[in-house]
Amino acid sequence: MKASARLSTLLPDGNDGWDLYRKALARQNAGMPVTMLTIGEHDIGTAPAILDAMDAAARRGLTGYAPVPGQNTLRARVAERIERMTGTATAEENVLIVPGGQAGLFASHIATLDPGDTALFVDPYYATYPGTIRGAGGLPRAIVTGPETRFCPSRDALAEAAPGARTLLINTPNNPTGQIYDRVTLEGIAEACIAHDLWLISDEVYETQVWKGAHLSPRALPGMAERTLVVGSMSKSHAMTGSRIGWVVGPAEIIAHMADLATHTTYGVPGFVQAAALWALQQGPDLEAEVSAPFRRRRALAEQALAGNNRIRALPSDATMYLMLDIRPTGLSGSAFAEALLEAEGIAVMPGESFGHAAAGHVRVAMTIEDEAFAEALARLARFAETCPSGTPTNYEET
Ligand code: PMP
Repeated sequence: MKASARLSTLLPDGNDGWDLYRKALARQNAGMPVTMLTIGEHDIGTAPAILDAMDAAARRGLTGYAPVPGQNTLRARVAERIERMTGTATAEENVLIVPGGQAGLFASHIATLDPGDTALFVDPYYATYPGTIRGAGGLPRAIVTGPETRFCPSRDALAEAAPGARTLLINTPNNPTGQIYDRVTLEGIAEACIAHDLWLISDEVYETQVWKGAHLSPRALPGMAERTLVVGSMSKSHAMTGSRIGWVVGPAEIIAHMADLATHTTYGVPGFVQAAALWALQQGPDLEAEVSAPFRRRRALAEQALAGNNRIRALPSDATMYLMLDIRPTGLSGSAFAEALLEAEGIAVMPGESFGHAAAGHVRVAMTIEDEAFAEALARLARFAETCPSGTPTNYEET
């Protein structure tokens, strides 16, 4: 029996770009040592105090069906957080609690696209984006960026892509590039959304992992709150990847429709998980800083390991648990470099090509192993690159 066309187009070529990751896992399963710098998951687990809050809530009886749009206390807390971040009035009815950012991305596209509508996204992109759009019935259209703009979409690229589209999906702080969109970039995005009457779906799941500068949510920009859906998650901010909890924040009317959608899909998020999330958010920024501190430290370690290397240029890492390395000076593609690195050193990194076309000639390093092993892996990666032949030099200072 055949699956629906909708499902079979999630990955139209049957390839999600994660071949290298699977190869690395296969080596590991065969008993070969592999240093995994691939997946965006913390090496610390969820804090025991958050688990205690979850356990206590479950024992208090929060194990039945929970309110579908989310518990009012949690919705109010998220509203307060978003209002503080954006300076834009935000209330409970603007917040839908969802089982993780990915569910929020899918629900947001279902809520804004009719079948066959064009949905924009920015290349390089988080691996699920085109499939999420197709799964929601949309036609994905990429806005291709490049290293010369640090992979931020320019006004020209937006103006070219926007006519006829219905939605635009952005991600700041960005996976895989480690960049934050600055005010000028976001104003360009807002201008394009208003001019072409687009919904903006703003994936802000890395909002707490900022090392330089500040995160700005487009919900804060004039005329944008009414057309923006902010997708947030506790996965990265609180190392709660397995708890599956996040939110979508937007205009009350569409959030109410999305609650109807939740009734027909997820039927809400477990009450004990919501209680743990509320407790975690109530701890404020100190807990979030603690969760992101290892990445801040490792970013500095990577800088030291790569200093003076003339085959690798690290894209300035302003945010996230990832580093984007430009390996074009080796003359290799990202895939060829990653394959050769795995073969020679047993180190697995993600080829830039796994994230679309724009990041070809780059690799993404996840800073997700403990400090000493990370520093050692980066030193080996740097030495390995020096053994590669020379290709095209790059210079970000010019941009
Ligand atoms: N958006 C981006 C950019 C991501 O990197 C991820 C997870 N790696 C997600 C959304 C989904 O996160 P979650 O569903 O765990 O909240």
